[in-house]
Amino acid sequence: MVSNGKFVYLQTFGCQMNVHDSEKMLSILAENDYRPTEDINRADIILLNTCSVRAKPEHKVYSVLGRLKKLKEKNHHLVIGVGGCVAQHEGERLLDRIGHLDLVFGTHNLHRLPELISDVQASRRPKCAVKFYDEVKSLDIFPAPSDGEKVKSYVTIMQGCDNFCSFCIVPYVRGRQKSRPGENILGEINALSKGGVREVTLLGQNVNSYGKDLSGGLTFPQLLARINEIEGLWRMRFTTSHPKDISEELIMAVGKLERVCKHIHLPFQSGSDKILERMNRGYTRKEYMKKGEQLREVCPEIGITADVMVGFPGEDEEDFLETLDLIQKVQFDNLFSFKYSPRKGTKAAWFPDQIDESTQSHRLEVLQKLQKRITLKRNQTLEGRYEEILVEGVSKGAKEEMTGRTSSNKVVNFKGSPDLIGQLVKVRIEKGYANSLKGKII
Ligand code: SF4
Repeated sequence: MVSNGKFVYLQTFGCQMNVHDSEKMLSILAENDYRPTEDINRADIILLNTCSVRAKPEHKVYSVLGRLKKLKEKNHHLVIGVGGCVAQHEGERLLDRIGHLDLVFGTHNLHRLPELISDVQASRRPKCAVKFYDEVKSLDIFPAPSDGEKVKSYVTIMQGCDNFCSFCIVPYVRGRQKSRPGENILGEINALSKGGVREVTLLGQNVNSYGKDLSGGLTFPQLLARINEIEGLWRMRFTTSHPKDISEELIMAVGKLERVCKHIHLPFQSGSDKILERMNRGYTRKEYMKKGEQLREVCPEIGITADVMVGFPGEDEEDFLETLDLIQKVQFDNLFSFKYSPRKGTKAAWFPDQIDESTQSHRLEVLQKLQKRITLKRNQTLEGRYEEILVEGVSKGAKEEMTGRTSSNKVVNFKGSPDLIGQLVKVRIEKGYANSLKGKII
């Protein structure tokens, strides 16, 4: 057992999967009497939950770790641990490189956190746990239902990926695809809904290939249909989807199931077939656009967002123009756009024709300007329309305003009182801005 009444400071980098993993870490540490603190100087344990999908968040981890050296010098009992994707990728090398680091725990070892911390405290020796397991135990850890405090919650349905896109580190750091049994997912969502959660976001690296590794289990559309029946749950979302795994059955389920939010995040990464092939994405631009059209056919109000990268090795001006053209044609509601950065251990890191930084920056700027115009235009087309939103909390911008999201995942701010939190309300959209909408409750 871990010692009593102590504090853990936890910093999270990266995606929603990491955010949710951090919630799980705090939950299992709470069972061992560790309370979370925002004050790093008060902490008995400092944990960094890391991301290695791009170079930037990875560099940040090293700079945060560097700054922790002074705290360790002041308090020799302090335990500093690194988990997540950088931990999985670097393993023992991280301990060799950072002399004041005590613990490295990989993506399949989260459930062992209390035991690993105890080991470090007892032995006063650093520890590294990065083994992959056939069964990922952490998938079935979930924070206790919150008794009406939380409106929304993440639910992990699978982890890992078998796709091996040539730029991506995920299959190496999260392991191969592992789906969680349907009954466990349904059990968790039932408990959440009884605790007052009204919206769940189903998480996984590639949610729409959910179940392909389980024999005789539910398919992803079947899972959605079962969740749709859970009493007290009003909405569900899911992320991330892979364009090649969007089946007709799934498109129909999105259109038909009333609790499935009308929003899809569908990374396309590039609009050039040449680049898509080099990325090993498994679809063409035409196939991608077709899926978008089919989704809008069954569900005209659907919000479509995506990830795209610029400056992938070998991307010439023509390829980049094809990406801009695809953006124009699809008219995304929003885009998450990045410069490609080589990830050690991936195939694309070895490609000879890497693109220089200034070309990447220029392309990113052009692309983001284009998308900003499209996002604004799409938000403005909602002016005058009535939307149902789930009220999530007080708006950051103004205290007397509340905030919530439409089914299509647009943020709406409106004048209202905090007793609306957790309710579905109807608002009239008065104004569409670049990042949000202004509404009036009716
Ligand atoms: S599908 Fe997504 S997670 Fe899997 S390798 Fe490709 S980019 Fe990475």
